[in-house]
Amino acid sequence: MAGRDMHTSLMEEPLVKQLALAHEVFWTNPHKTNEAVKNSAEWEEEIAEAEERLLRFAPYIASAFPETKEADGFIESPLAAINDMQKLLEQDCGEALPGRWLLKCDHDLPISGSIKARGGIYEVLKHAEDIAVKAGMLKQDDDYSILHDERFTAFFSRYSIAVGSTGNLGLSIGMIGAKLGFRVTVHMSSDAKQWKKDLLRQKGVSVIEYKADYSQAVKEGRRQAEQDPYCYFIDDEHSRDLLLGYAAAGGRLKKQLEQMNIKPGADEPLFVYLPCGVGGGPGGVALALKLIYGENVHIFFGEPTHSPCMLLGLFSGLHDGISVQDIGLDNQTAADGLAVGRPSGLAGPLMEPLLSGCYTADDSTLFSLLYKLRASEHKSLEPSALAGMAGPVKLYQTKAGKRYMKEHGLNMKNAVHLVWSTGGSMVPSEEMEEYSRIGFSFAKKMGRQ
Ligand SMILES: *Cc1c(COP(=O)(O)O)cnc(C)c1O
Repeated sequence: MAGRDMHTSLMEEPLVKQLALAHEVFWTNPHKTNEAVKNSAEWEEEIAEAEERLLRFAPYIASAFPETKEADGFIESPLAAINDMQKLLEQDCGEALPGRWLLKCDHDLPISGSIKARGGIYEVLKHAEDIAVKAGMLKQDDDYSILHDERFTAFFSRYSIAVGSTGNLGLSIGMIGAKLGFRVTVHMSSDAKQWKKDLLRQKGVSVIEYKADYSQAVKEGRRQAEQDPYCYFIDDEHSRDLLLGYAAAGGRLKKQLEQMNIKPGADEPLFVYLPCGVGGGPGGVALALKLIYGENVHIFFGEPTHSPCMLLGLFSGLHDGISVQDIGLDNQTAADGLAVGRPSGLAGPLMEPLLSGCYTADDSTLFSLLYKLRASEHKSLEPSALAGMAGPVKLYQTKAGKRYMKEHGLNMKNAVHLVWSTGGSMVPSEEMEEYSRIGFSFAKKMGRQ
């Protein structure tokens, strides 16, 4: 922080007071502009390159991970209608929540069961391609299924990859890294679930556990990796490649929307709600969707009440210069994938002119939505992934949300509410049942109020 005075005046802001008390808030972003994305041509080119790279790797992915064969080696998830969930939430809050509700099912992504299967896997693939091409072993017009050959795994085993993670990024990078032959080390924060660490160790990945939170695990991982010239560090707080891997989702989503005959425009606004941790995942998706749909897409990030790092960074304008601990929050949440105290220095500034807003959800809200989505739609998400689900209700029910819709003169009857589900299919079933039981008890309690 710039100093005591700035800290004092920030703490006096009503919104920051609410955040510091860990209350749920809905904030619309006054810095959003309707101008085109800055450097859009450059970004478009880089995203197109990422799409092409994923296409080159598709034959390898299809043979290395048979579950992707049917999708021709594309790591992609369905887009599903969630009308029953919409009805259930309308009943619960006693008012209409109009529009068409969809769930982007990244909890079902192959290989690692979370949105990290986009960015994390992409960055490892790019690194593998870079070093294999440089060594003269691979050409871009080769059939990449040759990467399965022993000579490639032997080659990659001379290199290592390291990453700091709350769980899912490590899981994604470990799965693909180990498959290619790399030596992988994952630096896990204290939030990481035991089953994720066990699974990685089974795959031959080194897992180093920290008692501290995500920022510390990243910092230590970065420090150790710097000492080894053969080690490549995947930097979740700054990586452009990670962000581009996530951004490749945009064009694919556009095709899925077209198949449903949805064409976002002035009369058919598209609202997208994304769970946000450090911001790279939702930031990459948001960037791509803004490039495609411009002002016809309205993007909101959801965060836990104990870890609203992106909201705090955007509101204060300090981005990665402030952490939730600076306002007295503990960064403790059951939403382990979102337990991040300081936002990405890349994603924060990039989102500043693009994002419609951010909101927070209490763990009890996340659990209760987890239970309700299972009961109504039979979809099982991990707690973090429900941060998106809280969005549409908050848009309709908060003062700030109502003002946003009014100011933008939107025809909400035709609105499309797309909730991005970011993880869950690999959670062991006993653990999922336990989440659901907790969710049921919260849902019951809230119903009685
Ligand atoms: C990592 C993660 C996110 C958010 O991605 P960031 O890049 O950290 O913002 C959301 N949901 C789940 C389940 C995650 O694991």
